Amino acid sequence: MLERISAKRTLAFHPNQDLEISIAPNAGACFGVVRAIKLGYQAANRASRDKSAVYSFGPLIHNPHVVRELKQRGVRTVESQEEVGAGTVLLRSHGVQAPIERALRERGNAIVDATCPLVKKPQRIAQSMGEKGYFLILVGDANHPEVKGVLSYFGRPNYLVTYDPHAVESIPLDVTRVGIIAQTTIELRVLNAVVEAAQKRFQEVSVNNTICDATSIRQTEAVQLAEQADVLVVVGGKNSSNTCKLVKICRELQPDTYHIEDEGELRREWFSEKKKIGVTGGASTPHEFVDLIGLKIADLLSNPD
Ligand code: SF4
Repeated sequence: MLERISAKRTLAFHPNQDLEISIAPNAGACFGVVRAIKLGYQAANRASRDKSAVYSFGPLIHNPHVVRELKQRGVRTVESQEEVGAGTVLLRSHGVQAPIERALRERGNAIVDATCPLVKKPQRIAQSMGEKGYFLILVGDANHPEVKGVLSYFGRPNYLVTYDPHAVESIPLDVTRVGIIAQTTIELRVLNAVVEAAQKRFQEVSVNNTICDATSIRQTEAVQLAEQADVLVVVGGKNSSNTCKLVKICRELQPDTYHIEDEGELRREWFSEKKKIGVTGGASTPHEFVDLIGLKIADLLSNPD
């Protein structure tokens, strides 16, 4: 049976069997996600009162449960301007490309900007670097919506998006000023490696560490958990970049790491003969949901078939 849930979100049960389930203290939704969810529900409630439409440009957050719940309340997730009719448009927490936001405003859509303030920061820096004529190195994933949004604020063709320090060698040597920013969810060591390569090649390098604390805190805790646990469960969207990074970090230290989106994916055999079970969740996974998975594991192991 479940014995306790402490303030540190550690669940301990079956003490006689020396079995413990630990949840990382900060596992789950960051403030940007909590804010976006709140704005999403407020917009959905207003639209239902006014009998108007509400759209989310891209998934509001990278969590399928929340997106499904918002859909049930009338929020339609769209991927293109063509799918948007009259009504309110929520801008997702990872931001939207500047020309798209402009076009929506010009068409008369009411905009609810759920872009995380920490994503707005690299957008603003990129815009300023574009205006000042910098060559931009954006350390991150070129296909991620956040990165596409940030680049749209830069607004010039002279940029490189990479994780790879060697890629810096492709930047022409006649470039005079280089600016570096990071996707909010990357690992600090990845940013540092690119910075080091750029500083070796160019004299003027302006470095902006735009990595979000929420990400680094969760990554540090994931390492601590992975060092202690016999098996790990990471909860979060399979489309969530920060959750996938947690999985990667955990798996490097503890190969018995499983990435799940919901309780239905849990398998009893993962925990057989394990004494210490760790649970963590990406910054886009509501806290309650991470805790619920801890409880479901406890249930699963307490009730054999
Ligand atoms: S992980 Fe950081 S940047 Fe992303 S939504 Fe959360 S607080 Fe904002």
